[in-house]
Amino acid sequence: MRLILLGPPGAGKGTQATRLVEKYQIPQLSTGDMLRAAVKAQTPIGLKAKAVMDSGALVSDDIVVGIIADRIDEPDAHNGFILDGFPRTVAQAEALDALLARKNKQLDAAIELKVDASRLLARIMQRAAEAKAAGHPVRKDDDPAVFKTRLEAYARDTAAVTPYYAALGLLHEVDGMAPIAEVSAAIDAILPVRV
Ligand code: AMP
Repeated sequence: MRLILLGPPGAGKGTQATRLVEKYQIPQLSTGDMLRAAVKAQTPIGLKAKAVMDSGALVSDDIVVGIIADRIDEPDAHNGFILDGFPRTVAQAEALDALLARKNKQLDAAIELKVDASRLLARIMQRAAEAKAAGHPVRKDDDPAVFKTRLEAYARDTAAVTPYYAALGLLHEVDGMAPIAEVSAAIDAILPVRV
């Protein structure tokens, strides 16, 4: 199964992706995680992306499309994957279509976690507080000012991705403000029991 999780930062895509990885035994492909790993390893891509990520803006389409093109070729992604944080622009969505078409593969669904933007900041501050309490590093871009920039980037560039998938008949909407178990159940009702 090839699945896309859509929704603004803090919508709960990562939480749901982690659960779906277990359920379907397919990898979560998070461009945010891959970019953070590249920054940590100080690869050429990481060095290029760091300042942009720290500011909350989007990394260039070329960079993320290149990362995804390589990643979906890995053996563990042959039977499917869950995209989390990609595509974030219509250009990325088109590039993904082209990549899959070349392999004769198709997307099965795009699930949008619909959330109330005004409540996201509180949610992200809770995420930062929980990470800190658990002794985990707090993401630099979860800082309230940077988070605001990330939400603006979502509204400006990524909001257009949902209609793109709606037009393809692949979009399903889920209430992302509901308790996690309810969000999970709503997603499960959309997806097949088995891949
Ligand atoms: P995330 O963990 O998905 O919130 O991503 C963290 C940051 O990585 C974003 O704020 C962007 O700077 C960058 N990023 C992740 N995925 C993408 C993408 N598909 N396109 C552009 N930038 C991205």
